[in-house]
Amino acid sequence: MATAKILVLPGDGIGPEVTTQASEALRRVAQRFGHDFRFEEALMGGVAIDRTGEPLPADTLRRGEQADAILMGAVGGPKWSDPNASVRPEQGLLQIRQHFGLFANLRPVKAWPALVQHAPLRPDLLEGVDMLFVRELTGGIYFGERQEAGSGDSAYDTMFYSADEVKRVTDVAFRAAQGRRGKLASIDKANVLASMRLWRRTVMTLAEGYGDVEVEHLLVDAAAMHLLTRPADFDVIVAGNMFADILSDEASVLAGSLGMLPSASLGTGTFGIYEPIHGSAPDIAGKGIANPIGMILSAALLLRYSLQLEAEAQALEEAVTRALDGGARTADIAPPGMAAMRTEEMAQAIFDQL
Ligand code: NAD
Repeated sequence: MATAKILVLPGDGIGPEVTTQASEALRRVAQRFGHDFRFEEALMGGVAIDRTGEPLPADTLRRGEQADAILMGAVGGPKWSDPNASVRPEQGLLQIRQHFGLFANLRPVKAWPALVQHAPLRPDLLEGVDMLFVRELTGGIYFGERQEAGSGDSAYDTMFYSADEVKRVTDVAFRAAQGRRGKLASIDKANVLASMRLWRRTVMTLAEGYGDVEVEHLLVDAAAMHLLTRPADFDVIVAGNMFADILSDEASVLAGSLGMLPSASLGTGTFGIYEPIHGSAPDIAGKGIANPIGMILSAALLLRYSLQLEAEAQALEEAVTRALDGGARTADIAPPGMAAMRTEEMAQAIFDQL
């Protein structure tokens, strides 16, 4: 029997709607496999700004430090998106990742056989699509020095990487490739950016120690195209913070919807933050129609990476597959004309398969 303390950060918009279902999925897994999972909830994002004035209150960090893993919904929304505001929900995301040293963000993307018929890409292109993005999460342009003059008409951001930052995330990617199909695509913009020439040099040096992994270097603009023209060729993809952020959203089209994709943010130990790759979706928040699958699959990653419960992770993932095979569809993945399920109906369809 495993025991675990899980901190839940529902956040804003559809965050609370999907975290409720992911926590329930974990409760049901615990019940079925005889584990003892304890849940606590804390503030993060816009809701935290409203209550405490800060997107990531010290109390939330303290509780996170006492937990084995964090399950996080999404933060942000129009209420807090004034570009002149000094405090923004998204600052909390960057702070929490940095606080826990979570430098590698794993984003698995696969094409679901049950969904390919209605995907925007031809079904033959989607056959066998199964890739893992490894995104560098605590460096690069999102963390570099920036200047945003209050009344000025210019601003800058800085893309900075050290060889050590590139090496530790690329190591994660190489090891992941060894456990998969043995292929790694490294994405950069080495033809223009100095930081990306360092990226490529570092990956090339590291590759010498991984003779069993086939490495391909792609410029980010070409990669954006290759992801749609030959998606099944990709196995593990490693990229810096911003490029992987953008490319993995693009790749969500291959999975049918942004609402389908989970992620795990990891550092050197087993602690991690698990969240869907989508945002707070203010356009559908409060309607009870959000797709909970990205969040529920993030809970499966929590079982796998933080709790080392592989059979339990697979049981949850298989329940999702069977629910989809059985025709369960929320609005974002339903074919035109089909009556879509609400969030809790989709979650129930998954729990029924567990
Ligand atoms: P978004 O991911 O919230 O939404 C993009 C589109 O996808 C919307 O049409 C939305 O309805 C749809 N969508 C997203 N998740 C869905 C789901 N589970 N089910 C069904 N449809 C879903 O991106 P956005 O609109 O660019 O951003 C909205 C807010 O979220 C912004 O404030 C942004 O900063 C924030 N954001 C937060 C995170 C995070 O918390 N990690 C990530 C991205 C964006």
